[in-house]
Amino acid sequence: MIMNLNELTLTQAQEGLRAKKFTSVELTQACFDRIKKRNKEINAFITVCDESALQEAMAADKLIASEKAQPLTGIPFAVKDAITTADVRSTGAAKILDNYVPPFEATVITKIRSQGGVLLGKNNCDAFGHGASNENSMYGPVRNPHDTSKVAGGSSGGSAAAVADHQCIYAIAEDTGGSIRQPASFCGVVGLRPSYGRNSRYGIMPMASSLDTVGPITKTVEDTAIIMEAIAGQDPKDATTVYDTVPDYSKGLTKSIEDLVVGIPKEYFDVPGMDKEVASSIEKQIEKLKKFGCKIKEVSLPYTKYSIAVYYIIVPSEDSSNLARLDGVRYGVRANEKDLFDLYAVSRAQGFPEEVKRRILIGTYALSAGYYDAYYKKAQQVRTLIKEDFEKVFEDVDVLLTPTSPFPAFGIGEKANDPLALYLADVMVSPAAVAGMPALSIPAGTTKTGLPVGVQLIGGRLQEATVLQFGYALEQESS
Ligand code: GLN
Repeated sequence: MIMNLNELTLTQAQEGLRAKKFTSVELTQACFDRIKKRNKEINAFITVCDESALQEAMAADKLIASEKAQPLTGIPFAVKDAITTADVRSTGAAKILDNYVPPFEATVITKIRSQGGVLLGKNNCDAFGHGASNENSMYGPVRNPHDTSKVAGGSSGGSAAAVADHQCIYAIAEDTGGSIRQPASFCGVVGLRPSYGRNSRYGIMPMASSLDTVGPITKTVEDTAIIMEAIAGQDPKDATTVYDTVPDYSKGLTKSIEDLVVGIPKEYFDVPGMDKEVASSIEKQIEKLKKFGCKIKEVSLPYTKYSIAVYYIIVPSEDSSNLARLDGVRYGVRANEKDLFDLYAVSRAQGFPEEVKRRILIGTYALSAGYYDAYYKKAQQVRTLIKEDFEKVFEDVDVLLTPTSPFPAFGIGEKANDPLALYLADVMVSPAAVAGMPALSIPAGTTKTGLPVGVQLIGGRLQEATVLQFGYALEQESS
């Protein structure tokens, strides 16, 4: 069967471009054809860059013709709209930035574009990354390509859906507390949250600055490794990036995992509402690892149970502070009010969805004098205990294996009026985020009704190479 060009993986697209089987213009056009056909229904893109992308593709074809291609040259990609892109509208999926075209961009995007990557457009997401279902976008929800009555997950639902639906070759998204991994699992694709500090946060719309990370959503683990090699590393514009040298992730993929130790944290399997089909898919992954010769060890992370509580104090607190910059004066849409206070209030009231307002209220309260010690400071103290749990466990294991989500994609509207139920959807993904550890979600089969299930591999700090190595081994076995 001949594949459409947009269905290629990054590695396949690279090979085809280099062998001159097709051009970047043809590859880009194939993605646009797919976007045109599907965006009305899936709603994965807020902005599509038809013209500029084709120009970028033409420039990339010239680079390829003159043998100057780099790994990402000529490959069409999409970017979560909460990440800034120079000269391309970046709304963060909130109407307060509906008309915002940044004059600068995220370092990770500059790295890709300077290799000749082709920017297709900006992906729908929960506004500023707040959500677990992509229903908190002011541009409408994203639908899951596997079943359009279901959510795509969040907050990077548009990016995961675009990759799963072959509207782009890969996407760059943001994960503060699960926003890359959970939608990747709901849509049946690969998503990596790197360690905090591995990739530059410069130019992403800050949500919770002490947790935000940027990473790839791809069709394969190998593709993720290639992108990480291009985007990772220290950045003078982000003082929290680490000096550590970036490993050769692709080379490390094929290293044997025999005799390595996989920890199974019991707290992740004893969760109320755990779906039976998810549990049995994860069991199958554990069996596969046994066949590879891995040692399986049950471990305990006792403070895990506080992750959601800690996360939903720290994140709204940092959110409320970061979002203060959006006042209708310096950026974006300004309400037509004469009085200054009304201008601020009405711009924010119109420009933010309900969940953003909820976080500002919770965060402002938690940071206020008299409550700071009881909430924010206490949460940071418990965060240290959660981190220490991980550090202790990684003395004995190489990687931890858990489900990415207790359940597969749920129905659109099913949890939309229950913010707490949506917060609890992060139960498997928030602990690694709170601790700053890298974590990868890869597909682990589907339910009987065809909904994807994801398995999560959590690594020790800066051990992306190890999680990718395990992910690659499991992925090879599934094909
Ligand atoms: N569901 C989480 C939240 O709403 C994830 C956010 C994220 O990672 N950007 O905060």
